[in-house]
Amino acid sequence: MTSTTLVCTGCGCLCDDVQVEVDGDHLSHIENACAKGAAYLQAAFKPDRRAKTSIRAQACSNEAAINEAARLLSRAKRPLIFGLDNSTLETQALAIDLARKLGAAIDDASSFSYGPLVERLISKELPTCSLSEVRDKADLLLYWGSNPTATHPRHLSKHTYYAYSDFNPAGWYPRVTLCSIDVRQTELTAMSKPAFKIRPGSDQDLISGVAGESHAPTDEARQLSELIKKSRFCAIFCGLGLVHSLEGDFAVFTRMVEALSQSIRVAVIPMIAETNMLGFNQRLHRETGYVNSISFAAGASRGREYSILEQVSHQAADCILFIGSDPFSAMPLSLLSKLQDTDLICLDHFRTLTTEASDVVIATAVPGVESKGNTVRFDGDSISLAEPIREGLPAQEAVLRQLLEKVGS
Ligand code: SF4
Repeated sequence: MTSTTLVCTGCGCLCDDVQVEVDGDHLSHIENACAKGAAYLQAAFKPDRRAKTSIRAQACSNEAAINEAARLLSRAKRPLIFGLDNSTLETQALAIDLARKLGAAIDDASSFSYGPLVERLISKELPTCSLSEVRDKADLLLYWGSNPTATHPRHLSKHTYYAYSDFNPAGWYPRVTLCSIDVRQTELTAMSKPAFKIRPGSDQDLISGVAGESHAPTDEARQLSELIKKSRFCAIFCGLGLVHSLEGDFAVFTRMVEALSQSIRVAVIPMIAETNMLGFNQRLHRETGYVNSISFAAGASRGREYSILEQVSHQAADCILFIGSDPFSAMPLSLLSKLQDTDLICLDHFRTLTTEASDVVIATAVPGVESKGNTVRFDGDSISLAEPIREGLPAQEAVLRQLLEKVGS
């Protein structure tokens, strides 16, 4: 029986206090994980949930699958590498090297989600801070289009509202105002005081009102503006609800934060659910000046046409390497049907719709459970995964090293 503490890679929270006991091939005890994390960790120990290494649905050795993947990538004229948001920094660096060597395009899910916001955070157009700075210091927690009780179950208890050590004299409520803005009622809006329930697509109007750019600000905009200006330190947690409502255009949002920052401290934190999207975006930005949708076909160029959605809808890629990502569970069938003539290679630890659809599947270790490495949490803090608690399948990093050696040789 082995007993250890690990970093859960079940969501972007990357909780580092999860205790497990492993009895041979059996996970006998889990402590501190939420239901989502416990289910994720248990799945890692269930053979029927794990990906199986195969070539065109026939089981094979790792070596054979890696050789076939290298062959498909080497012969491709327009390869694409996609995913990596749940991979370690080490894997991400190797994938970028592989894209460069192949002259491939490379993209991640930020191209249809947090990319525009992350770009502004990385280029310091928007202020941010770590979750440890938020705790006990921020006096206004503003969740905008985000419901962490579903996406990041321990976020409130480990990092914000319930993690505050400063309580009011009654001893029950943290000394912080919890506010949410959403189009629907959620567990979070039920506990927020105040909660603004807004019309779908009206975020931009609300932001303009708070920024002082609207001639006729709504009552909600006036109330929200007063609430923020009364605070000393407002942490704004931006969820996908806000990102999609703004269609990725954060210009007015940025001006609102600039205006508010004249009188109070404001920090913006993207509520990324993936474990290391920020790490990938930072690395690619350091190497190319952009966070996603890059082609290395001739130097490094950025364009919307290199994003996964454009690549698939225009049948631009003739071979796609998916790494730790399951786009088949998210994309519409009309798009997926365009991949019929594309060679698909998938590296994953779990069995997914994408592994089922791929020509070559290379089963890999579960990060944080069977392989170690480093990540960047969505607030920018570095988190190192614990030592593996069991051995067996190769890490994504090891597979990419072999592919790097084999492609083009
Ligand atoms: S909140 Fe996320 S990281 Fe933490 S235990 Fe739950 S799933 Fe795992």
